[in-house]
Amino acid sequence: MTRPVHRVAPATDTPVRQDSLRAHNLILTFRQIVGAPVPISRIELAAATGLTRPTISRIVDELLTAGLVVEAEPARSGNSGRPRVGLSLARTGPAGLGLDIRADSLSVCVVDLTGTVRHLDFAPHRVLPGHGAESGDHAAVAEPTGRHAAPSHSGAAVADPNLGRQGVAGDEPSPGRRAVAGDEQPSPGRWTVAGDEPVAGLGRAPGRGRDLDPEDTLRSLAAMAEKAIRAAMAENLTVVGATLAVPGPVDGGMVRFAPTLGWRDVDAGGILATLIGTDDLPVGVDNDAGLAALGELYAGGPELRDFVCVSGEFDIGAGLVLGGVPLRGSRGWGGELGHVMVDSAGPACACGASGCLQCYAGLQRIIDAAPDLPSSPQQPAVAIDTLVSNGSPEILAALNRAASALGIAVSALVNLVNVDTVLLGGSYSLLTSWLTDGIDRELRSRVLTTRWSPIEVRPSLLGPDAAVIGAALQAIDQVRRDPNPWLARRG
Ligand SMILES: [Zn+2]
Repeated sequence: MTRPVHRVAPATDTPVRQDSLRAHNLILTFRQIVGAPVPISRIELAAATGLTRPTISRIVDELLTAGLVVEAEPARSGNSGRPRVGLSLARTGPAGLGLDIRADSLSVCVVDLTGTVRHLDFAPHRVLPGHGAESGDHAAVAEPTGRHAAPSHSGAAVADPNLGRQGVAGDEPSPGRRAVAGDEQPSPGRWTVAGDEPVAGLGRAPGRGRDLDPEDTLRSLAAMAEKAIRAAMAENLTVVGATLAVPGPVDGGMVRFAPTLGWRDVDAGGILATLIGTDDLPVGVDNDAGLAALGELYAGGPELRDFVCVSGEFDIGAGLVLGGVPLRGSRGWGGELGHVMVDSAGPACACGASGCLQCYAGLQRIIDAAPDLPSSPQQPAVAIDTLVSNGSPEILAALNRAASALGIAVSALVNLVNVDTVLLGGSYSLLTSWLTDGIDRELRSRVLTTRWSPIEVRPSLLGPDAAVIGAALQAIDQVRRDPNPWLARRG
């Protein structure tokens, strides 16, 4: 019924104060409710935590009063005939806000305490003529009045990996961005790489991004965030924190380098916190590939424990989960799969190295292969899929090349860390049918153990929405780990 939880150990070298003990016991009890796959009774909570029944009753009363848990319908249990009242997380109360900046769009998401997506909004970038960094280019900012990709979508009822799973997977795979294909927006600014050789140099990250103006972009995102916060309030949800997903390494709230956006050293967290008109809303910033893996971990079934989620966009990132726990690295700067070398004689990459995976499998490389594809289609993956489905030999060859390169890079990873599943996320989730065979071929020939334990390659469940959902989950995680500040806030 219950699962082991990550316990918060009190400090051993100082006396435990009474209020600290109360807070600790409340955390202990709440985490059991969070981790229980079905509603859990007070008696079961006492057994799982080792606390007395009167203590459990007091804590549960506190949680009920604070609106964090609800009582399930009484049910008869065992032979005693006594009603068994289960406790589960409330669908109202605290909520997390996720924000995502991609090369082609912005998105926002709200999840409630149960991890269910309650609001999901998506806006392709629009073009502001005259803002381009290069002659004839346009700077793209998001259209703040983007439509809902999946309003009130309930797709990711999920749980903290450290707390045990809720056991409720998404009710259906994400529709991906096909749902909004055809949403006519002004043509975006063009991506600047063309030809066979990527443009090198780190200064402006040329050829990898759109030179999005940080303030304009963040202002558009803040407007979407405020709309999401209002939508949450209308459903009796209070957004308690926000996390922004960005394609690049992050240092605190600072985006160090995001070539696909053309950003370097942008204090995105600070700017957003100022722009969003809500007092004291903490805004965290994190790498999108890691957050996408977090989203997939929550949304996937309990068997999904050791996997890599490869998010393919104009950059290629990888989020690694081992034993149900996302791996972060010392500074959270791992996952740059796009800059793993796959050919020592390969072309120069924008990172300064050469032969990187990104030079073969980034979306721009595939787009560049098609003579009759615009250099910056509104829905790149959809455009690629349409073209190859119509028999384009150039795109098919580019996809095969991308798949082989992906297979080589992922094989190195799998040989090292022994994951059993490779999820193709982001735009790759829409191209899986064209990529799987090539990746699988490389895995079978390069990973030592595949003859005994094949590696499953499949599309991610959440697709392009994984990062923004993961960001929202990370934002609500603070309450799931420690509900005491929420209780204090309510006085
Ligand atoms: Zn590189």
